[in-house]
Amino acid sequence: TAKQKGKNNFQLYTEEIKNKFVRKRKLAEDLKYAIENHQFFICYQPIINTMKNKVCSVEALLRWKHPFEGMISPGEFIPISEDNGTIVPIGEWVLRSACFQVKQWQQRGFYDLVLKVNLSVRQFEQENFVEMIANVLKDTSYNPQLLELEITESILMQNTEQTIEILNKLKKLGVKISLDDFGKGFSSLSYLTDFSFDVLKIDRSFIQKVLIDEKSAAIVNTVINLAHQLNLRVVAEGVETEEQFKFLVNNQCEEVQGFFFSHPLPVEDFERLYCT
Ligand code: C2E
Ligand code: MG
Ligand code: MG
Ligand code: MG
Repeated sequence: TAKQKGKNNFQLYTEEIKNKFVRKRKLAEDLKYAIENHQFFICYQPIINTMKNKVCSVEALLRWKHPFEGMISPGEFIPISEDNGTIVPIGEWVLRSACFQVKQWQQRGFYDLVLKVNLSVRQFEQENFVEMIANVLKDTSYNPQLLELEITESILMQNTEQTIEILNKLKKLGVKISLDDFGKGFSSLSYLTDFSFDVLKIDRSFIQKVLIDEKSAAIVNTVINLAHQLNLRVVAEGVETEEQFKFLVNNQCEEVQGFFFSHPLPVEDFERLYCT
């Protein structure tokens, strides 16, 4: 009967919630051992300079190959990792591994390749955060000028004054600071006056609508002009078509990133394509 069916649906639904909860708890536990169990690797997504028409930088994007669950997306595991604090050692592992890797590519001839690494708000909260970055740079003898740290608005929403102080210390190290996912969530233009960012990364939700929605096109054009007035370089993420690329070139966007050029690549693929 319909009533029985309804009850079954309800049971199915609660079952689903329970399964999600159990999976999350399991992943949270497994994240504690994922580094030592060698389950992480990093993919590098090429970013193109539109003036030079060549790859100028790569974004390090973390990948997790779980022994039973297979590939798990950062969209799923990064929030869990932020919840239980494992993002702190994991974030350091990403930075260290990526600096080590990109340093090698620089030495093999790609001498001005810039590395972009994402940072979590939980890393910022650490007492020794700036020291950790300085140590990684020293240990890998990585040129700080060729490192861009990507932060999101969520970091600036936390404890702004302390955050600005940390960002200024990072700049003293010589690294560049990029504001990622600009326009998504609780963006505030005041963040742009609170701190001198080097790079502004426009969220891909705007880029993907530039040709179908005049409002998005106007926003992207205006954000690029705003950024240039403030002396920031602009990166557009999520470029998937030639038309989007042309729009961005016409609007003087300095750097473009997206599946139209390349997906994030494992080390071997990046080397085969760009380090010959
Ligand atoms: P993000 O920093 O904004 O990175 C860009 C994301 O957009 C990546 O997703 C990339 O694969 C995806 N992407 C690039 N081009 C395109 C495109 O043309 N179309 C579409 N639809 N997507 C594109 P991914 O690798 O799944 O990472 C998702 C998010 O996870 C990242 O967003 C970042 O916030 C976070 N994340 C990844 N690695 C790390 C890490 O090492 N540390 C921290 N704290 N967060 C990370
Ligand atoms: Mg990013
Ligand atoms: Mg982004
Ligand atoms: Mg994003």
